[in-house]
Amino acid sequence: MEMQQPKQRQRSVQRLRCSVMNYDWGKKGRDSVVGRLCASNSHSEIDLEKPYAEMWMGTHDSGPSFLIDQDLNNNNSTTTGSSPSLRDWVSNNPKDMLGHKVVQKWGSSDLPFLFKVQSVAKALSIQAHPDKELAKALHKSMPDIYKDDNYKPEMALALTYFQALCGFITLEELKKVIGNVPEIVELVGSEIENQVLRTTKEDGEDKVKSVIRLIFTQLMSTNKEIITAVTTKLKSRLQTESQVRQLTEKEQLVLQLEKQYPNDVGVISAFFLNYVKLNPGEALCLGANEPHAYISGDCIECMATSDNVVRAGLTPKHRDIKTLCSMLTYKQGLPEILRGVAVNPHVTRYIPPFEEFEVDRFHLPHGESTEFPAVPGPSIFVVTFGKGTICTSNGDHAIIQGDVLFAPAHTEISITSASELHIYRAGVNSTFLAS
Ligand code: ZN
Repeated sequence: MEMQQPKQRQRSVQRLRCSVMNYDWGKKGRDSVVGRLCASNSHSEIDLEKPYAEMWMGTHDSGPSFLIDQDLNNNNSTTTGSSPSLRDWVSNNPKDMLGHKVVQKWGSSDLPFLFKVQSVAKALSIQAHPDKELAKALHKSMPDIYKDDNYKPEMALALTYFQALCGFITLEELKKVIGNVPEIVELVGSEIENQVLRTTKEDGEDKVKSVIRLIFTQLMSTNKEIITAVTTKLKSRLQTESQVRQLTEKEQLVLQLEKQYPNDVGVISAFFLNYVKLNPGEALCLGANEPHAYISGDCIECMATSDNVVRAGLTPKHRDIKTLCSMLTYKQGLPEILRGVAVNPHVTRYIPPFEEFEVDRFHLPHGESTEFPAVPGPSIFVVTFGKGTICTSNGDHAIIQGDVLFAPAHTEISITSASELHIYRAGVNSTFLAS
């Protein structure tokens, strides 16, 4: 489809209207950062009863962003039926929009990254995302469930106190869990219990991984009736013990998950995973084939453009336990927490070990300015708090909380704050762009 692009607009910053996902695990109404940002992004009212789980910023088919066809300084205009999607806009002129190097590597129609804001009230499913090879195979054999053939490494950067389950605990921790949670032994049997207890680090990494894989797969494959009986037992034991002792954080979490997802195998599997807590400004990176579940809080999320999720618990959605248990790396120990590197006094950069993306956090006090130099890849900016001005060679654009802007490759930008101002930027990994 050929589109009209007046010359002067081609290289300039574009305002976006973004898609919102009202998944039932989202925070409701005004409590939801996503709800507040989406309401101002689309100039609509917040529905106090509705969950606002995610805002998607990018070119993914399942949640496209559209250009707001308006003068950039006029906040009152809205999109019209004829507004192009960001995807159409970009693919009409890919080398200018995405930059030569990005087009060469990832093609000419999609941004390599998908940018999101996420507000979690209730745990998301226990999931993992396939690597490139497995993503292709799953998409080929089950295209209705696995809609993309791309992998989906992701990074979550906390906006508020954020909790997640992520990766397996160590073998030593697992032995303690087995000792303290008799319900797990009841589920997996004493033979597997003994195998875990007999294994030591000295047996080698492969052996340790195979034993963790064995017990986790056994747990996840247990039938629903047994899981229901055992979670009921676990719940009443913990409730009784809470009268006489302080429950551990993990036990408290397990009770919380049980309330959200009664009789779900995911409740017990929480004992196998690391309980990670992020303060605002801290980020978690998740590579392919790592199990995780976000539990609560608001975050900025960035990932390779894909929506491939293999789920196994804490979800009413399709579960694919066989695929999940066979794909996991069974790597153990706490994941690395990124705190970012200072680019200047107002900007912190989070660089994950993936080529597709990085995230910058701009925190400006009132009346400050900062420059964003031209880079040979595209960027998306989302204003999460406050107001100010974005200046480019094409003019000045007033910005306010909820605004989302697309900047083509090679756009030089300066940002000035008219209050305390928080902006997040997603772009292609600068390590890749510089290579
Ligand atoms: Zn995920």
